[in-house]
Amino acid sequence: MNLTLVSMHIEPSSRAVPLASGMLAAALRQAFPLGLTTCLIDFFLMQESAECAELVLEQAPDVVGLSVYTWNRDKLLELAGALKTFQPGVVIFAGGPEVTADPSVIAGHPAIDFVLPGEGERRVVEVLHLLQQGEEPLQVGEWPDAGTVEDLASLPSPFLTGVLPPERYPGLLWELSRGCPFHCDFCFESRGSDRVRRFPEQRLRAELELFATAGVQQLFVLDPTFNFDAQRAKNLLRMMAQVAPHIHYTLEVRAEFIDEEMAGLFADINCALQIGLQSADPAVLARVHRHIDPADFAERILLLHEAGVVYGFDLIYGLPGDSLQGFLSSLDFALGLRPNHLDIFPLAVLPGTRLADNARNLGLEYQTCPPYRLVSSPTFSAGDMARAGYIAGVCDLFYNRGRAVPWFDLILENLEINAARFFERLADELPEEEPVGEALIAWQQQVLREMFLSQDKPLAADLAADVVAWFGFAAALQCQELVPGPVPDDPGRLYLIPEGRFVRFGRDPEALLEKLEMGVTDFDVVAMLVPEQPCEALLYLHQGEVALGVFTPRECAWLQSLADGGCRPQDDALAEFCDAALAEGVVRKS
Ligand code: SF4
Repeated sequence: MNLTLVSMHIEPSSRAVPLASGMLAAALRQAFPLGLTTCLIDFFLMQESAECAELVLEQAPDVVGLSVYTWNRDKLLELAGALKTFQPGVVIFAGGPEVTADPSVIAGHPAIDFVLPGEGERRVVEVLHLLQQGEEPLQVGEWPDAGTVEDLASLPSPFLTGVLPPERYPGLLWELSRGCPFHCDFCFESRGSDRVRRFPEQRLRAELELFATAGVQQLFVLDPTFNFDAQRAKNLLRMMAQVAPHIHYTLEVRAEFIDEEMAGLFADINCALQIGLQSADPAVLARVHRHIDPADFAERILLLHEAGVVYGFDLIYGLPGDSLQGFLSSLDFALGLRPNHLDIFPLAVLPGTRLADNARNLGLEYQTCPPYRLVSSPTFSAGDMARAGYIAGVCDLFYNRGRAVPWFDLILENLEINAARFFERLADELPEEEPVGEALIAWQQQVLREMFLSQDKPLAADLAADVVAWFGFAAALQCQELVPGPVPDDPGRLYLIPEGRFVRFGRDPEALLEKLEMGVTDFDVVAMLVPEQPCEALLYLHQGEVALGVFTPRECAWLQSLADGGCRPQDDALAEFCDAALAEGVVRKS
């Protein structure tokens, strides 16, 4: 019997890993060493269903399994329909979170033969046994239990068994546990087992060693509350630092379990933490069975900040009892804690959650099909939801993608407004076509200039432009986002370092940075200490660090003349400069 397991990802990315299918395939290969061939196939949302169907049918499957999530439900059902059209005899089943949330809806689709709600590894083995014996699988409501795998150690690892060879993926999803001890009403996880089941540390170490050997660069850790058991979290962090320190880890953590030692251990690995804040209002969170003590939250985040750990928050707008004003207060609280990024989502009323069960009582109007977004509530009108959406969008563009975290406080201080007010004003400026790279830096400079000029602060407008230019280009260089300059083909030609950019400043950028580093943050004072002196400075990468070259107009003109390749200058002074620039690596020879 041939089984094809289909995964459909949002887009190509380092998270596009068919882990769920891999887990099923590993369990099946263990249970059926003979007589069953399993094959995994990955698609992306942008692919046409007919094209996907052809690729699936090339595997000559007897049975096809679909891994269904909110975002791929419609496309996978379309694919199922296409498969049945081309090969009516193929048996198609569906599993995954969307099926678990509301099995009868997917089971009712004409192209789906049966569904596997809940954790699939045990059930898929039972079902394949039945199919091999020519028997019918159980239908919705006939399963005796929820399919929960009590002992995760009984599940074979898709990595250690070779089902998912790690070297095939730029990043991997790494599952550490299942179940969540919390009961947030909006989350489907809270309806599953509240007993946290964990994969044994010995297995995790073996997987990590394999990832390290395979050269995996990124791991997205699947554990909704990684640090709930603080001791285990610390053990795992030490293991990560010891076995695979080069890997970048993304972890979801709860703020209330962070202590100083843990913050230090996070700082010892290359990681980014995602922390679910959702709202800073204890009363709003209490209505969805979450708890927050804002002062305690801020104190623990400070531990991360002081240890130099990268962290970001999630916020939700539209929670029951929340309002646009309440959301803005939460936004202000979140940005005041200087997250590296802030991900803001509209409330989704997901099928199968307690929130969906209570939606009518709470007066929630929401979309009845994916993505199940809240339309309005008694305290959050449809207009307020739209407004919050604009604010979320502009915050993402300006703060997250514009990497504003190092200088955002400085701007707010000089504008004398808070973060919420800032993004409220900016929400009207959200461009139709979102700028990227150098255009994004220019947009940030422009909107800040307009804000400062509206307050009659032209000096601050100029200083803000310089600050944004320095940090923006420095980050873009480090992330290798700028298009490299040309390298001449003919040998012996001099050329400017390709990973460099001439950037225009209104003041000497070195003097400006020095004052900022000294803690002089009032732009009026900075403007007095650093006089206006327009210049073009070269920002470039030197041994992995961003360096700044401020040159005389003559030196600058010569460097810029190297765009198409050049020669050593005749002039003695310039020739000396040329030699120094070659030694520094600012100028190179082809
Ligand atoms: S939101 Fe997080 S903490 Fe709350 S139930 Fe879901 S997984 Fe658990």
